[in-house]
Amino acid sequence: MEFDLNRLLRPHIATLKPYSSARDEYSGKEGIFLDANENPFGSITEDTFNRYPDPYQKDLKARIGEIKGVDSSRIFLGNGSDEAIDLLFRAFCRPGVDNVILLPPTYGMYEVSAGINDVATIKVPLTANFQLDIPAIQAAFTPHSKILFICSPNNPSGNKLNREDIRTLISSFEGLVVVDEAYIDFSDEPSFISELDRYPNLLVMQTFSKAWGLASLRLGMAYASVEIVAILNKIKPPYNVSGLTQSKVLEALQDLSSMHQMTANILSAREHLREGLLKLPSVHKIHPSHANFLLVNIDRPKETYDELVRHKIIVRDRSKVTLCEGCLRITVGTPAENHQLLEVLSQITP
Ligand SMILES: *Cc1c(COP(=O)(O)O)cnc(C)c1O
Repeated sequence: MEFDLNRLLRPHIATLKPYSSARDEYSGKEGIFLDANENPFGSITEDTFNRYPDPYQKDLKARIGEIKGVDSSRIFLGNGSDEAIDLLFRAFCRPGVDNVILLPPTYGMYEVSAGINDVATIKVPLTANFQLDIPAIQAAFTPHSKILFICSPNNPSGNKLNREDIRTLISSFEGLVVVDEAYIDFSDEPSFISELDRYPNLLVMQTFSKAWGLASLRLGMAYASVEIVAILNKIKPPYNVSGLTQSKVLEALQDLSSMHQMTANILSAREHLREGLLKLPSVHKIHPSHANFLLVNIDRPKETYDELVRHKIIVRDRSKVTLCEGCLRITVGTPAENHQLLEVLSQITP
């Protein structure tokens, strides 16, 4: 399948003249900066928050590129993955004309972002064991289908999707395939980043919100061809990643071993939690997880959810979601938090 990025791109974006920021015109670090109407003093004296941050996050991208083995020119950084998702809609999907393909049950932001941008969604459910229904997905493609969102490991089911199936879809779709790897660091599955050279219509998303434990900083990554990254850079708000975020994430990236240790601890806590839950008579099934949460089929999910809330324990009620009937989604907490959850659940009488 020949991929034509120019056919995918909305024509007005192709001809758009982007905002040129003060920092675009002069990018040196030394000098007397009287170009951006900043306050030369600032309120927090030990830092440089009075200055606008690097709009292209060069230092951060250099470090991320080094760790992930990708050139900086193939990395887009956004205010969370959610920003990248929204920008993809704005770059490629004409409101009221184009559509995107979603594979429920999956991450809710794809549909919300589609709705905000007035873009139709075509939904093709996963199979009963949460895998890709290749023939049904391929049958759903229309000439106006611009983006196919695949989440692996998938939220809320927790499983990883068959790699060969993902490849089949990338090769057979004329639009852009987004592989959302928000949970990849909890999985033994290699990232699709290594396949970017093979597939010009692939975009891989990752985030600092989960395994890195930095959800509040709001930093999401998109990896794609130089051309696709250039389009996202062209339409993003100029200073979309704050200076605080850039410096704090750079700090976290100094120490990969802590992150790996933290991830290993969460995985071991997940297995303890799984064993504890399986001992409860109210728990019928726990779906296999390659992420930091468990999808748990349980008696009376809504009542159980409410009872947990009364004990100030908040989980996610997914029992009304396609293929997740009867299920709560439970994030793995600290060992103490997981223990408390099990205590409360064991006291709820059926
Ligand atoms: C949590 C999550 C994200 C992260 O979004 P951010 O905006 O980066 O915090 C992305 N995709 C999926 C599937 C998620 O579950």
